[in-house]
Amino acid sequence: QQQSLGAYRDLATVTADGNRVHVAANIALPDELNQLIKSGAEGIGLYRSEFLFLNVDHRVTEDEQVANYKAALLAMPHDRVVIRVQDLGADKQPRFGQERNVKLFSQRGLRWLLKQEPILRTQLRALLRASVYGHLGIMFPFVTTIDEFQRALAILDQERRLLEEQGHAVANNVEVGMMIETPAAVLMADQFAKYADFFSIGSNDLVQYLFAEDRTDSSNQHYVALNPAVLRAIKQVIQAAHAEGKWISLCGEMATLKLAQPLVLAMGIDEFSLPLPAILPLKQRLQNLSVRQLQPLVKQVLMMENDDEVAEVVNKWLRRHQ
Ligand code: PEP
Ligand code: MG
Repeated sequence: QQQSLGAYRDLATVTADGNRVHVAANIALPDELNQLIKSGAEGIGLYRSEFLFLNVDHRVTEDEQVANYKAALLAMPHDRVVIRVQDLGADKQPRFGQERNVKLFSQRGLRWLLKQEPILRTQLRALLRASVYGHLGIMFPFVTTIDEFQRALAILDQERRLLEEQGHAVANNVEVGMMIETPAAVLMADQFAKYADFFSIGSNDLVQYLFAEDRTDSSNQHYVALNPAVLRAIKQVIQAAHAEGKWISLCGEMATLKLAQPLVLAMGIDEFSLPLPAILPLKQRLQNLSVRQLQPLVKQVLMMENDDEVAEVVNKWLRRHQ
């Protein structure tokens, strides 16, 4: 028998066969922090820091950023808060400063940040200074090559040392991870997993780049998260993370799909991160699913040819088991 949704608010999520899974929040606006506790979130899995830099008429200072990240950490005092370094791209362009670049689609995320080192360094310093207020994860967006990621890690290390020299306190439990949202990152995930503390799969971009189709164009036919190509990519990345003992989250919109959730769960995902209203319903569903029972279904869908077939068997499975 199912309990009412509210009953799941303060419960740690455990599947019917005893697997612990975290259900965390995606935050895109500071106001959402007020609803975090009510939402039932077990941490913040994706804090989209872009909003701080968009629609402002001045360069955002380090101190302003520290105050913002501190607020996010204090809103979840007992859980991990993953703040994504600004991911400015084709659809999100800063209004202020020389960083404005009409070719941002090819200069996006970490690739763009490495060309704007002062901006990157300021944000990393602010994040490190805020780290003493909770359990912080720093996440780099749109990573494509190992070199790029290593450069980002080196810059982060330098900034940490500089801060400490200047007498600032920096937490020693900061985790440093990356988004998996390009096909290159999927294919090299085994190597990335040696350097990253965690992965977070950005299915919105990953699906768009796997199928070479614009995520903002709803007329696209193949923009489908249940396609076995996407499921295989996700399985590969989860295995790569676990082979190096790292944890992995799914934070794109795919995490909200009822038919995708059981599959990704059974592949071994450690965390789902999704918009606030979707958290309690997922917590409820997960407690009624068994990873062991789902495993043959995952095997089956990975061998299918298209998303319609996948949707049909998952629908059938859910009807039979719930
Ligand atoms: C994604 O790409 O799935 C993701 C979570 O990041 P964003 O939607 O902010 O690009
Ligand atoms: Mg993305």
